[in-house]
Amino acid sequence: MKTNWIKRKKTKTIYVGNVPVGGNNPISVQSMTNTDTCDVVSTMNQINDLKKAGADIVRVSVPGFDEAKAFKEIKNAVNIPLVADIHFDYKIALEVADTADCLRINPGNIGKEDRVQEVINAALDNNIPIRVGVNAGSLEKDLQKKYGEPNADALVESALRHVEILDKYNFENYKMSLKASNIEMTVEAYRKISKVIDQPLHLGITEAGSYRAGTVKSSIGVGMLLTEGIGDTIRISLASDPIDEIKIGWDILKSLNIRSRGVKIVACPSCSRQNFNVIKVVNDLEQRLEDISDDIEVAIIGCYVNGPGESKAADIGLTGASPSNLLYIDGSPNKKIKNDNLVDELEKQVRIKIEDNRIKSDKIILRS
Ligand code: SF4
Repeated sequence: MKTNWIKRKKTKTIYVGNVPVGGNNPISVQSMTNTDTCDVVSTMNQINDLKKAGADIVRVSVPGFDEAKAFKEIKNAVNIPLVADIHFDYKIALEVADTADCLRINPGNIGKEDRVQEVINAALDNNIPIRVGVNAGSLEKDLQKKYGEPNADALVESALRHVEILDKYNFENYKMSLKASNIEMTVEAYRKISKVIDQPLHLGITEAGSYRAGTVKSSIGVGMLLTEGIGDTIRISLASDPIDEIKIGWDILKSLNIRSRGVKIVACPSCSRQNFNVIKVVNDLEQRLEDISDDIEVAIIGCYVNGPGESKAADIGLTGASPSNLLYIDGSPNKKIKNDNLVDELEKQVRIKIEDNRIKSDKIILRS
């Protein structure tokens, strides 16, 4: 797998709990809970589901002091770094600073410098980072007036005001995001800020939209920046189940060969030459293998036009043929399989291959 085709900007490393963000560290995948934070059990369950789906970090909204109390309970019950999302009232940030792994503040609504200074002091006391999250939808009033409407320069100016405050207090332990719901504005803003600061950047197209439209928009916007080497952590904002945000985030990283997790399925779109129902097999298999986090590539190709080439390049490959399809393992033909029980057989082979890979890597670790 080609993994070094992107020249990533080397940013400073900060730690959100035990997850390093920036530098040469893997680009982390985040999402945000959408449960009522005061409903501790539901929020905890959603966080655990997000972790299972591959989240490295989860953000939780803390709009008031009741939620701050709940946040502490939740944090004690889960095993993944949590970012406390704070807007308007800096005192809530002070309240959760002893528990949170990161404090997200919004320059557009957190208030004047003395309030930011108190948040910085709380972060210093607890040795946690801050995420400065600039958002086109909530820019400071004077910037809205100055620029007329949100644009990349307005986002950058808002960010730099806060950088100035953070610099004044020698606080370097922060990451930055400059999000808009518009790709051009977001990309331009991130390109600009990336030239000015060395702190890690948290990428996202905010309020990107529905599952389908938001996925396309986010993949283009976040994908553009990632291919330019910009970005250290991502959140795909979708009006959908937060689990989808994690899955899409991973799919973006996998598509760019930046990071791998779970099964990567290569499949042909199918046509009248197909010797089995490619779409059904792919969907069924993808669902059955959702629990797998090991890195493995599976090719499902409907006929001999592209089948052998793709099957040889994957860990497990299936090339459609009549009367039997041909299964490849590690690039070599392995056995013929009929259309009945195709998904059962593929699932079995993938699980065997994963077990083999695990045994092999355990042996390497034991030897070294
Ligand atoms: S690989 Fe074969 S079945 Fe699949 S789209 Fe191409 S020609 Fe059609």
